[in-house]
Formats: sequence, C-alpha cells, structure tokens
Amino acid sequence: MKKYVLAIDQGTTSSRAILFGKKGELIRIARRDIETQFPKPGWVEESATDIWVSVVASITELVEKEHIHYNEIDSIGITNQRETTIVWDKETGTPVYPAIVWQSRQTADLCDKRNSKSDFIFNRTGLRLNPYFSASKIRFILDHIKDGQKRAENGELLFGTVETWLIYKLTNGKCHLTDVTNASRTMLFNIKTCKWDKELLKIWNIPMCMLPKICPTAYDFGDATYLKHDIPITGVAGDQQAALFGQTCFAKGESKNTYGTGCFMLMNIGDKPILSKHGLLTTVAWQINNKVTYALEASVFMGGATIQWLRDGLEIIKSTPESEELATRVKDTDGVYLVPAFVGLGTPYWDNDVRAAFFGLTRGTTKEHIARASLEGVAYQISDSLKVMQQETKIKLKSLNVDGGASANNFLMQFQSDILACDVKLPVCVETTALGAAYMAGLHTGFYKSLSEISKYHRYQKIFKPKMDKKLVNEKLRGWDLAVKSARSFKPNK
Ligand code: ADP
Repeated sequence: MKKYVLAIDQGTTSSRAILFGKKGELIRIARRDIETQFPKPGWVEESATDIWVSVVASITELVEKEHIHYNEIDSIGITNQRETTIVWDKETGTPVYPAIVWQSRQTADLCDKRNSKSDFIFNRTGLRLNPYFSASKIRFILDHIKDGQKRAENGELLFGTVETWLIYKLTNGKCHLTDVTNASRTMLFNIKTCKWDKELLKIWNIPMCMLPKICPTAYDFGDATYLKHDIPITGVAGDQQAALFGQTCFAKGESKNTYGTGCFMLMNIGDKPILSKHGLLTTVAWQINNKVTYALEASVFMGGATIQWLRDGLEIIKSTPESEELATRVKDTDGVYLVPAFVGLGTPYWDNDVRAAFFGLTRGTTKEHIARASLEGVAYQISDSLKVMQQETKIKLKSLNVDGGASANNFLMQFQSDILACDVKLPVCVETTALGAAYMAGLHTGFYKSLSEISKYHRYQKIFKPKMDKKLVNEKLRGWDLAVKSARSFKPNK
C-alpha cells in the first residue's frame, strides 16, 4: 500500500527530505546542512559530492525516524537550487570541479565578453546576460580543468544542474536527464522551442554531447535504484517553479512570492512566453504531458537578508523575528526610507552599481523607525516588480500567495497587502517548494488524481487584507520612488 510521496528539496544551504501524505499533508522533515566555500571575493562553490551525501543522509534519517518501509513510498519528486553547475567524468561519475553556485560572480568577465550578444540571448532564452545562469559556469569549468574542452568534445564529461546530478546518482549513473524548468535557467535553452539551442551553444562553445536530455516536469525519470527499492522519480522542477506549483497557482495570472534570503516572485502567464521589456525574466513554470506553462519572474536580491543585516550588521535585533516587535512599537517610519540595494538592485532596475541608502533621517529617528523602514523596503521592491508584471501581462492581481522565512513576519505581510492593495495569503503548509515537487511526482503516478483534487487540499492559515487608506499608500509609494531615484543617482565613482 503506497502511503507517501518523498520530496527531495536540495537548497543552497541545506538538503531536506520530506514525506507527504495522500492529502498533501506534511508527515516529517529531515535536514542536513551544506557547507559553502567562498574561495575568492564573489566566488561561491559547494562540493557536489557533499550535496549528494547530504541528500542520502536526509532520506535515510527520514525513513528510519518515521519507521517507514521504502515500499510505502509511491514516488520521488526532486526540487533544487537552480543554475548551480556541476560537471563530472562520464566514466567514473566523479565531479571534475566544485559545483559553482548560482550566486557566484566568478564568471562576470565571461559574460562581459559576450555583451554584444545580450539581445540575441534574451530573445532566445528570456534571461538577461548574467553570471547567475549556468552557461558561463560550464565555460568556466571547461577552461579551468586540464583538457576541459577536448574532453567535453570527446564525450568524456557530463554537465548537470543539481537535479540532473541527483537523478544520475539515484539511478546509479543510468539516467542523464533534466526537466524543462531547470533547463530554462541554463541560458542554453530556447524558451520557444523548449530545446537546447545550437546557436546559444556556439556562443559559449559548449558541446551538445555533454548536456542532459530535456524532459517534462511530470515524467518517468527512472527508478532510484540506489535506494535499493526502485522507487520511481516522477516529478522534477527548479525551486521557484516548484513553489508556484505547490502554491497551486495553476491558473493564468496567479502568483506567488517567496520571502527567503532574496525574494522571487513568479506569475503564471499561461501557454505563451511573454518577453519582458522591463527587467522580468521569462521561464518555464512546468510541463505536464505536452502542455508547457510559462511564468514571468522577478528577482529581488535583498529580502530576508535585509533583516539579517539589522541583526548582524547593525546589531539592533538579536533575532530576525524581533524585527516585527521593534517595527510595531512606532506608528510609522516618520518619513524614513531604506533602499536595500546592498548588492545592487534586481528587477525591475538591474542596477549593479547602486548602493543601499537611508533617506529622511532626523535627530528623532530611532532603531524602531530603522527596523520599520527596512521591512517596508523589502515590500516596496516587491511592489515595484509586481507593478511591471501587471503592466506587461495586463493582468490585475487579485491576491498574492506567499511563503519563505520572512513570510512569518505579520507586519511585513500586512504592509505588503496594503501597498499592493490585494490579499496576501499564507498557506498552512509553508514547505511549498517540496510540496510542489511532491505534487508533480504524485500526479504522474496517479497518487494525486488531478490539479483540481490538489487545489482542494490547499488551505490558508492567514489572509492579510489591504487596510491602508489609498491616499496614504500613494504618498508612501511616491516617497519610495524618490528614494530609489536618489539612491541610483549617487554614483561617486562614476
Ligand atoms: P532561504 O531559503 O533563502 O535560505 P528562508 O526561506 O529559510 O531562506 O528564509 C530565511 C530568511 O528569512 C532570512 O533572511 C531571515 O532573515 C528571514 N526571516 C526569517 N524569519 C523572519 C521574520 N520573522 N521576520 C523577518 N525576516 C525573517
């Protein structure tokens, strides 16, 4: 009797194994942290072997603690940190270089060299030329190992993002596969044809033979024979797309925002890719059978990380939840704004040179105002992105589904609802990323019958409704616009 779907959620800082039941209920989580290396300023790497070991350890702990038998597990869904790049030896299965993590800027010059191709790349991929995506990272690895290019061309090396690596290991090296959502983040994938693109491969001089085969998100990816019980892997998606699915944003126009270290907002835009004129990325949301669904994506670099800075940089709070208590001690920010451009600004500005700035300080400004302005600064960035999303899609948002660590902050969620003038909905199960992968896997095997059945399981613990006077909202948004403009004009070194 199959009782569970097992989700593997392989993130930047940890790997988690999570069991879900028949109604999408969370049974248990096991987690292993992963060490990240910063070998040089801006470089971020992890050991691909450690990633794999952490996944196996979390699965083993989960199964043992829950006293379940592997044969009670219907299927496996995998979701993962996106863009992180691994290259390994086809013969031995050994990684030839550390995994280069999505955040890493070590390939900035490789991207700069291809600046003249940025429009072409954007039109083919929906992505902006940036070290963030996998293509430049593969190029970097081939350039930094002995005979890299030659070995790749001879078919001796394989490339994969994290899901491909995990599928490969779980199937004992039998399957070299990716899914459309992860492929759409490589910068080698044609967003319109949903295939690897020969011209993009040429721009990066990457041989086709090292790339995995692209599959739908709900698909038979092979049996996890490594676990000795042949459980099929039947759902795979990148973390943000999986969260959109786990939030049951199945209809066009439905959106979610994840308030993690950064914030990632995705809107389901239906079956046609829209290319943004204002800094949004276009990405594949999922593919079930032959039907591809697309999403527009906004990336905000400093979400919860802004609150970490209050804790670790300014030291005005001891824990991030304290920010809420501090912020609600005052009735407003007294005209103080923080533009949290600590690492530049992402969507819709994509300005690498802007630095963070406080505006409107007086002798009366206290740490309470600072905390409140910081939380508001996170929310304003989402509002900027959403404004662009609504303009480009001509869809007016009715509600925003939320998740991620900072969605536990009631002040932030209420303020977000106020300035967006729409409901902000926090689900009961905040493990939406893992849940999305589990749903995809279970849908393929019939463990979950349909999207409408899944929608019925989705419950909310809190719904924040807009309360703020419209005039006040407009005043605040005007202040924010001015703050962003002023911060962006402060470029002392240019
Ligand atoms: P990630 O997946 O990126 O590691 P998480 O979803 O685990 O992120 O969220 C962690 C982030 O959420 C941290 O940056 C932290 O500062 C922030 N955070 C967690 N709880 C709160 C809170 N109550 N108020 C504000 N920020 C919070």
